[in-house]
Order: sequence, then structure tokens, then C-alpha cells
Amino acid sequence: MTKLAFPAFAAVMLLLPLLPVPDFWITQSIYIALYALVALGLVLLTGVAGLISFGQAAFVGIGAYTAAYLSTRMGLPPLVTLVAGVGLAVFAALVLGLITLRMSGHYLPLATLAWGLALNYTMANVEGLGKYDGILGIPTLSLLGIDLGSGRSLHPLVWGITLLAALAAIHLLDSRPGRAIRSLRSGATMAEAMGISTLRYKLVVFVLAAVLAAISGWLFAYFQRSVSPSPFSIIKGIEYLFIAVLGGIGHVWGAFAGSGVVRIVEDELQVLLPRLIGTSGNFETIVFGIVLVAVLKYAPDGIWAFVQRRLPQRARGRDWDGAAPLPARDKPARGQALLEVQGVRKTFGGLVAVNDVSFAIHAGDIVGLIGPNGAGKSTTFNLITGVHTISGGSVQFRGQPITGLPSRRIARLGISRTFQHVKLVPEMTVLENVALGGYLRTRAGSLRAMLRLERAEERQLMAEAERQLQRIGMGAQIHELAGNLALGPQRLVEIARALATDPALLLLDEPAAGLRHKEKQALAEVLRQLKREGLSILLVEHDMDFVMGLTDRIVVMEFGNKLMEGTPAEVQESPAVRAAYLGTEH
Ligand code: ADP
Ligand code: MG
Repeated sequence: MTKLAFPAFAAVMLLLPLLPVPDFWITQSIYIALYALVALGLVLLTGVAGLISFGQAAFVGIGAYTAAYLSTRMGLPPLVTLVAGVGLAVFAALVLGLITLRMSGHYLPLATLAWGLALNYTMANVEGLGKYDGILGIPTLSLLGIDLGSGRSLHPLVWGITLLAALAAIHLLDSRPGRAIRSLRSGATMAEAMGISTLRYKLVVFVLAAVLAAISGWLFAYFQRSVSPSPFSIIKGIEYLFIAVLGGIGHVWGAFAGSGVVRIVEDELQVLLPRLIGTSGNFETIVFGIVLVAVLKYAPDGIWAFVQRRLPQRARGRDWDGAAPLPARDKPARGQALLEVQGVRKTFGGLVAVNDVSFAIHAGDIVGLIGPNGAGKSTTFNLITGVHTISGGSVQFRGQPITGLPSRRIARLGISRTFQHVKLVPEMTVLENVALGGYLRTRAGSLRAMLRLERAEERQLMAEAERQLQRIGMGAQIHELAGNLALGPQRLVEIARALATDPALLLLDEPAAGLRHKEKQALAEVLRQLKREGLSILLVEHDMDFVMGLTDRIVVMEFGNKLMEGTPAEVQESPAVRAAYLGTEH
């Protein structure tokens, strides 16, 4: 959206009750905001982070029932019931999340289904919660002495909260923690290699979505002045997901588009369909079912993506000139022992992918690791960086054992890497991808990001990301989407991202693969420059000529074994190496 669109939209929604709008539409508008608040959580959780929850209605129920119970039975004021409801939702989300988010794939959706069913069953069967009748007689909402009993007086509060939540979500997504969240869908390996705890950010979005749902429930309770189990059932949980998908699950404003359309159409259909068909019933559910299938098939990005393509795009600028540099780590002095790999071993079932391989790297060296396809080079990389669990042997980095450490701990110590199969977040810009590399050198948390209190650090981070991109000759493409780049430039972006971590040791897995001749020469020049600056590099490469001109020493692997180690000249003359390469494709 352009810069003025948000204030204009906010002004209209906040002032709507002052306009001669019928009460019916004020009520509709309140429901649209309440739905949008829940759907917003799903945009973050499902659309951005790739986690599915059917249980959002249950979190709405927690907010609503807590408000109902505490206000009617104990006479507690709204702010107390809000804190209690949100607190309960956070607790429930943490417990659910900690149990299921470690496991991959479908455990979270299944757990949220079970949770939604169980909570709804509880509401409907516990005496103290009024069973199927629910809780009646909730007092009107009154804050700071102002009574918000009518729809017209409640409307600005509901929309104010919902719009602030949307703004907070937009701020979050465009920040250090937000980029970590946006990287979750691309798999854990890359994010963890940049030092990001993927579990932590999955928990953050899951809790955040639960909080938004609970706030919606709190407002709902005071608006309706009564609660009963049915608005918090699994069916509703699925409807929230439907709203988010229909609106555009990847977009904050999709939550609003979806809830607006669903609320209005649902209402019309509830009147229209029974009249057309001649009997009463919830026929709109059937229509929504059909629409959902059609949307998934023909417009999987939802209504908002469709609208957005027709809106003028805001140009991305740069606002980080003169930002202070990020902190840098102490680098080892040239010649110091840096990495010691001792007898490392990796078996996959019966296959010995890496068989007792040992070598060492000293600070300032470029060491090549070469060998035919399947020799075990990438697996060796993955053992050093903690991606694979090691089957035997040990690795020391700067005199410290790092065997068995998780990859984000190893990243913290100063080893950074690229991947043979490029791992970028395609829907993020080149600059944002490189900024992921600076994750460990920055601190901003989710709350600070939502409140935009981290802009100074963000400018430092962006300046660093741009500097690294200029270093590898990609300064002109910083705002392009990474997914739109050809393979060669994507590899360069990965190098820039690894450099943004300020590594003491850089591990490159086939950086020249897929590059044209000219690009290869440019890359070799970049690597030479890095070496002159004192950086140490372990370079896996297939292309013999490329390594020959670059490296100080070369380790040759074949069938998981170390074949030999020596200077480029020694390796070139070795009959064994020649045979190994001739035996395969070279
Ligand atoms: P290189 O990088 O030298 O081409 P790799 O390290 O990728 O070789 O692979 C070495 C051997 O280990 C190959 O035979 C490969 O099929 C096998 N391998 C690699 N990763 C896995 C894995 N995750 N599971 C099973 N086998 C694997
Ligand atoms: Mg490989």
C-alpha cells in the first residue's frame, strides 16, 4: 500500500460510527475486525511461517470465556480479564507449541485439532462455564470510566486494536526477527546455519497468533455480552483458516479482505439460500466449501494478491547511509591453528559416506576439498558445521571442541557456509537474504520490532548487507527478489550472506557450479581478495582448474576416503588423483 492508504483507511474505520451508517453495518464492521484479528494471526502463522493451526477458535474461546467468567462470577474489571485471558492463551500456546513444534510436519495441525475439540468439549460440559447455555449477563465494556456499551462506541476500540495489530505485524515482518520468521518455510538447515533458533521463532509466531485470537475473544465477549460454546468450535477454527486463505494468507491485508468478504457474503447467503432452496439450514457452509476449493485451485494467493497487483508499488529505497558498522569478532592471527578435523566418519545405514578423514586449516589459508561426485565432500562440510550428527572422530575450532554442537552454536563461534543446493528465501529480496547472515551480530527482539524501536540497528544491518553485496559485485541488485535470480548470482548472494556473519572460517560448497566463465573469474578474484584480507576458506569444488589457481593446499577425497593432501602442483601430478577423476566423469 502506498504511504497514505493506511492512515486514510484507519481514519475511515475509526470515524465510521460518526457517519450516518445504519447500526446493522456498524455491527457487521465490528465482526469483520474481530475476524480479521484472528485471521491476522493465521497470516503470520500459516502464510508466513508455514505452520497450520485449526485451533485458533479455541484461543478466541479462551479470551472470551475468561472475560465472561471473571467479569460475571468475580466482578473483575475488563483490563484484568484481558490480562488473564491473554495470559492463559500464552500459557496454552507455549505448552502446545513446546510439545509439537519440535516435531516436523503434521504434528502441529493435528495437535491444534485435538486442542480445539478438547477445549470446546470442556466449555460445553463444565457446570461452572454454563454448559451449552454458556455464560450470560456479561457487563458492558467500560475503560477509563468511558462506557462502551453500544456498538457505535465500541467500534473505534475494536478497529483501533485490530489496525494497531496489523501495523505491528507489518513492522515485525520487516525486521530482524521477522526475517527469521519468514525464513522458517525454507527449512531449518539454512536458518540454523545463520544462528537462528527455528524452534524459538516457531514458538514466537504460534504464541503471537494465540494472543491475537484471545484479544479478539475478549472483545467478542463484551460485545455480545454472552458466550456459548458454538462460536469457538472446530468448524469456526476451519472458517478462520478459510478467511485467511481466501483473503490471501501471505498478506497482512489479506486477513481484512478475507474477513470482510466472508462476513458479508455469509450474512447474505444465510438469508438468501434458505429462501431459494425452500427449507432452512446452514447451506452457506456448503457454498464456502465449494468456494474454498475453487480459490485454492484458481487463486491460491487469495483476494489481496489480486488487489495488490493492481496497486501502485512503493519503491524500495535506502536509508542507511552513514550507519555505524556492526560489531566484528576477533580474528585469529595468520598461521594459527584454526580447524582440526580428526578422523571424522559418517555412515548412512550401510554406506560409509565419510571414512576417517583428517585435515587441518590454518588461519589465512584457502584449502580446497576436491573429489568426484559422491566422494563425501558435502557430508564432510555437514559434519564440520553440525548439520549431520557425527558417527565418529572429532572437530576442533580455534582450539575448542565443536564435535556434536548444534549448527547454530557452531555459527556463533565463527564458521559460516554456503550450500551446494542454494538455500535462499525466494520471496525475500537479495538484501534481506544477506541480512539473515547478520542475525547473530544484532539483537532486536519481536516486541522491539513491532514497536519500531530497532531502526538504528536495522540501518546498521542493512548497511552491512549492502556492503557485502558490493564486495561480491552485486550492489546493483539489492532489491531484487532472490527467487528471480539465475543460479550463478544466487550462489554469490549465499557468499555475501555468509560474509555478513563476519566469519573466521568460510566454507564454500561448489560456489562456481552453474557460473559462466566470466563469473567464475570474478568469483576467483573475490576469493583472492578475501584471502588478502586474512579470511580463511575451505573450498569444495568440482572444477579442478578453478581450485588450482586459488588454493594453498588441497585435500582429495574419493569414496569417502582421503586420497591425498598436498599443494596444487603435487595434486595435479598425482596419478592416483588423475585416475580417480578419469574413473568418473572428468
Ligand atoms: P559430494 O559432495 O562429494 O558429491 P556427498 O557428501 O554429497 O558427496 O555424498 C557422499 C555419499 O553420501 C553419496 O554416496 C551420497 O549418496 C551419500 N549421502 C549424502 N547425504 C546423504 C543422506 N542424507 N542420506 C543418505 N546418504 C547420503
Ligand atoms: Mg557435494
